[in-house]
Amino acid sequence: KEVLKVILLGNGGVGKSSLMRRYVNNVFEEKTLHTIGVEFLNKDVDLNNKTFTLQIWDTGGQERFKSLRTPFYRGSDICILVFDLSDRDSFIEIESWLEEFRKYAEVESEDTTFPFLLLGNKADLPARGTESSEVYTWCKDHGNMPFIEASAKLDLNVERGFMVMVERAVQH
Ligand code: GDP
Ligand code: MG
Repeated sequence: KEVLKVILLGNGGVGKSSLMRRYVNNVFEEKTLHTIGVEFLNKDVDLNNKTFTLQIWDTGGQERFKSLRTPFYRGSDICILVFDLSDRDSFIEIESWLEEFRKYAEVESEDTTFPFLLLGNKADLPARGTESSEVYTWCKDHGNMPFIEASAKLDLNVERGFMVMVERAVQH
């Protein structure tokens, strides 16, 4: 079985742990999920009659501690950049998460084929911190990065987001 290492990055509170638990265990909790250190969960997925084990890494609780999270970036096959659709700052800071990932995972900025996904979470909330047009412009400027709006709470586009990335990683 082939293992694909998936890393979820983004500001604290955007819903990384919730997305991971929704996808792997199909549960959602209203309270913030405290992660002790960096953790990962495995999930097997089938694609083209082949089974892949997704090893999904949550840098939970380490948003403030760069030196604790960056060693885990190396060897990643997929990077999901998460922001909260209702929180503008979390979108603005995606740029620095991307730069940090590229540096420590050693993915060259010229490499536009690496499987990145920009995921706007909390699509169930009415508040919008960003205009769709600026998000699309940002994606266009960053190697036509795919963008998906999702909700861990309502289980909207969570599975689809991961599967699109598995397909891309297998091609990469
Ligand atoms: P993390 O710090 O990025 O891991 O964020 P968490 O997964 O701990 O979530 C932070 C808070 O946002 C928690 O209170 C979650 O219940 C909430 N949350 C996560 N995903 C969603 C979502 O899709 N919609 C809404 N409304 N709240 C969410
Ligand atoms: Mg977390």
